[in-house]
Amino acid sequence: MSERKVDRVDEALRWARERLRDLTPLKSDCGRLCGAACCRSAEGEETGMLLFPGEEALYAADPTWRLKETERGTLALCSGRCRREERPLACRIFPLLPVVREEGVRVALDLRAAAVCPLGRGGLGALDPAFRTAVREAGGALMGEARQAAFLRRLTEEQDELRRLRRQFGGEGRV
Ligand code: SF4
Ligand code: SF4
Repeated sequence: MSERKVDRVDEALRWARERLRDLTPLKSDCGRLCGAACCRSAEGEETGMLLFPGEEALYAADPTWRLKETERGTLALCSGRCRREERPLACRIFPLLPVVREEGVRVALDLRAAAVCPLGRGGLGALDPAFRTAVREAGGALMGEARQAAFLRRLTEEQDELRRLRRQFGGEGRV
């Protein structure tokens, strides 16, 4: 997969992917804590990662990836293994999410990750600061491109809705 050859991938997305290419939530391999839970599918299911707008162009021609259109956007279905340098941006930023607030882009624990990822229990402060910074900067870059910004705003709204629901049913939100 050569990202440079895919013209339809905008610069902001390319930059964000590159910024998170080698960074991980912890300096050590967090997959050892949980058996790489975020890459494991439930029995009979495939793991699907929601792609950022235009990101599907990177995967469409590669038969090792399957794409699925949904109401929320395009999912990349994986077998639970991938070449690290090819993983989608959603995997690169997991379990964080850049959220859009009045004061700008902030980094938050992705509430959708709470059921899967043990790292959230320690709060943001437990994650490698370099990783947090990279996720925030990636979000800032994405906000410079209209369709990426719209996508991030939608993800933020989803997080807020999830937090409202959790509070309503007695849970906690961290965004
Ligand atoms: S679920 Fe969390 S702790 Fe486990 S590999 Fe994924 S990001 Fe790391
Ligand atoms: S694409 Fe790669 S990093 Fe993402 S869930 Fe699948 S195996 Fe894990």
